[in-house]
Order: sequence, then C-alpha cells, then structure tokens
Amino acid sequence: MTIRLAASSGFCFGVRRAIQMALSAAEGKNNDVYTIGELIHNPQFVQELTEKGIKICNDVSSLRDSTVIIRSHGITRQELETLIANRNRIIDATCPYVSRTHEFIKNAIDENYDVIILGDKNHPEVIGMLSYGNSSTKVVAPGEIPKDFNKKRLCLISQTTQKIEDLNNLVCEILPQLIELKIFNTICLATTQRQIASAKLAKHSDLMIVIGGKQSSNTKMLASMCSKYCQTVHIETEDELTEELFLGKQYIGITAGASTPESRIVKVYNKVLKINGEEDLVTSIQSIPLFKEESC
Ligand code: SF4
Repeated sequence: MTIRLAASSGFCFGVRRAIQMALSAAEGKNNDVYTIGELIHNPQFVQELTEKGIKICNDVSSLRDSTVIIRSHGITRQELETLIANRNRIIDATCPYVSRTHEFIKNAIDENYDVIILGDKNHPEVIGMLSYGNSSTKVVAPGEIPKDFNKKRLCLISQTTQKIEDLNNLVCEILPQLIELKIFNTICLATTQRQIASAKLAKHSDLMIVIGGKQSSNTKMLASMCSKYCQTVHIETEDELTEELFLGKQYIGITAGASTPESRIVKVYNKVLKINGEEDLVTSIQSIPLFKEESC
C-alpha cells in the first residue's frame, strides 16, 4: 500500500495556542485550573490534560476566585460577565479568528443590520457568536434557506469551520431578495486549507482515514467531504482500524482535524504501516510522506 498524509493535518494555530496557554497556566500551580467545556474535542488528549490538573467545568457560575481558561471556541458574553463578576483569573485563549466574529457581529448590530450566522446552532462557537447578536439574530445550517429575514439590511457571517461553498450557496439564495447584504467571510484559512488538501488526497485514494474527536465539528466536516471521493472512516484512535478495512486497497490517505495531536497521527500511521507488514515505524509527523498532487 502507498500511505500518504494530507498537508495541513493536525493542530491548527488556534488550538495549539490554547493548549500552550493552558499548559503554562497549570505549570507550578497547586490549585486546579478549569476550562469552560473541553479545551479541544479530543477525549484522549483531554484525559492527558486532566492528569496535568486542567479540569473541565461546564457550569460557569460555580467558579469563584479560580483560574479559568477560555478555549479556542470562545464562550458567551453572559458567561464571560459571570466569570468576571466572580473574581476569576481569566486566561482568554479564544482563537483570534473567533474573537473577531464577536466584534463583527457587535458592530453589525450597532449599525442596525440583522445578522444571520451560517453554522451549527448547537456548536459552542456558534452559541458564543449568537450571544453577541440581538433578538433578531438567527443561525442557519448549511443548505438551509432562511425565511423571514430583514430584506433591507442584512449581515451574513459564518462559523469558522464551515465550507466556503455553503456560504456561497447561501449568498446566491438570499441576495436576489435583498437591497443590502454585508458578508463577512470568517471561514478560517486553516480550515479551508485543510479541507482542500484532504479533498485532493481523497480523490487519489482508495481509503481515507480521518482522525479526530467524534464530536469535533471540523473533523466531521473533513470526513463528510472525503466520503464524496472514496471510502472514508472517521476514527479517534488507531485501535479502530482493522486489517479487513484495507483489503483490496492500494492508496491510503490520512488526514486529521484541527484538534488532533501529532502524536495521535503518528500512532495511526504506524498502525497502518504494521498492517502493511512494515517494520520501520516513525517517531514524528515530519517522517510521514505528505501527499503532493503532482506525484499522481
Ligand atoms: S480552526 Fe481556525 S478559527 Fe478554529 S481554532 Fe483553529 S485557527 Fe482558530
């Protein structure tokens, strides 16, 4: 088998930054530090963080005089106000690309635009974005066409992990009904690059292995995109790979979501090598061959 890794696999800038901030906050501390929700959507890595004293808290109002890390997805405006009121020491690891969506929404509301957010209404990032809107702010899912919106002055903004095609499609659907449409393309470049690289690899693979938390929005998006081109499995760990999966397959592609540690990618790659009967395993992601389109 030929096994190749998609370019831009693994931790993105925002996740790497949040982890570094959390680890340095926990270093040398006797008391636990808390994250609001899981720091990243990766159960195995969250377990490692817990062992380092970084615990998860889902009830903001229960924290007082504590050290609290805001993860890369951000939190709601109301949660932030509660944390401040309860004298917590806040380490804001909200990804700057997410923070700017809050600013854009606040400014659009001040300028009297109604706001539509393209995204998953249950995702913490979108819940945070929504809190900076007002009572007319709506969330629409990819492929959904909004009804009853302000036909004069509308602002459209996206969750950072959405697909650009879905934003384009939404614009095409609503623009003919509008006088003025303000659009913020807040889809993160790291997400777009990862999606493009994974799709290119999937087109040249018989099997795609997508590594990342089963709850990770950007990993689920990668798996759905790759599945258009070849058989695709979404796994959290190498233990989910069986030899049968590889029967009759020649080209194997590997990609990983933005919250997948490099060490996990290495373990998955080594498992595939072993299934392929190879004995020389790798110790770092840099030793894994990257897919280059011109090599096809
Ligand atoms: S995917 Fe983009 S927006 Fe989200 S945390 Fe990573 S860098 Fe930030």
